[in-house]
Amino acid sequence: MGVLRVVFLGPPGAGKGTQAKFLEQKFGACLVGTGEILRKAVRERSPLGRKAVQYLDRGDLVPDHVMVKLVAERLRARDCQSGFILDGFPRTIAQADGLEPMLKDIGLALDSALCIQAPNEVIIQRLSGRRTCKVCGSLYHVVFDPLARAGKCDRCGGELYQREDDREEMIAARLRVYESQTAPLKEYYCRRGLLKEIDGVGNVEEVRNRVFRALGAVAT
Ligand code: AMP
Repeated sequence: MGVLRVVFLGPPGAGKGTQAKFLEQKFGACLVGTGEILRKAVRERSPLGRKAVQYLDRGDLVPDHVMVKLVAERLRARDCQSGFILDGFPRTIAQADGLEPMLKDIGLALDSALCIQAPNEVIIQRLSGRRTCKVCGSLYHVVFDPLARAGKCDRCGGELYQREDDREEMIAARLRVYESQTAPLKEYYCRRGLLKEIDGVGNVEEVRNRVFRALGAVAT
């Protein structure tokens, strides 16, 4: 398998970010994680961050035109010419409609829309225990991942923290947003023959093997 051009769909906590990082390592494709880009912008108080913060704090979606512009700029960069993995975009039909002309512009077509599924009780358990590295965005879990107990990122030494929107009271709101605005994308990509549904229940290696199988790649 050569150049990879995929989008990840699926509810928050299904494992998109974790699996996207594996694909980045295996294929050397450019990982565009819109949530991570927005959180960094908020930390740096950039103009994008100042626009986005109110939405992130409520678990709402940042407006489509802001996101489409952000991703269009990112995909035009040189490093994305050797493949890309979109994690967290598109999240609405309007964003998916915005992505199509962008890809045409740069002459790249999508290979697959990988949708990782998991039931709500699994998602709630994962998100409420999730810890994120402040510096590199690596993901840990306080129960499933002994490394998280040190409070420091094993990869870069950065401080681990709990995202505001991973607090229990915010999770239900994000799941509602997912169901109403993002879940319809499954049908959108199914109609285009690109949807690959992946069972997200199990440990990260099990899910990784399913993702690699769905892509026709060997999971080593
Ligand atoms: P994530 O890290 O993917 O869970 O995203 C965290 C938050 O960033 C979301 O709850 C939204 O507020 C915002 N966000 C990330 N990606 C998008 C997107 N494609 N469209 C709108 N908002 C987004």
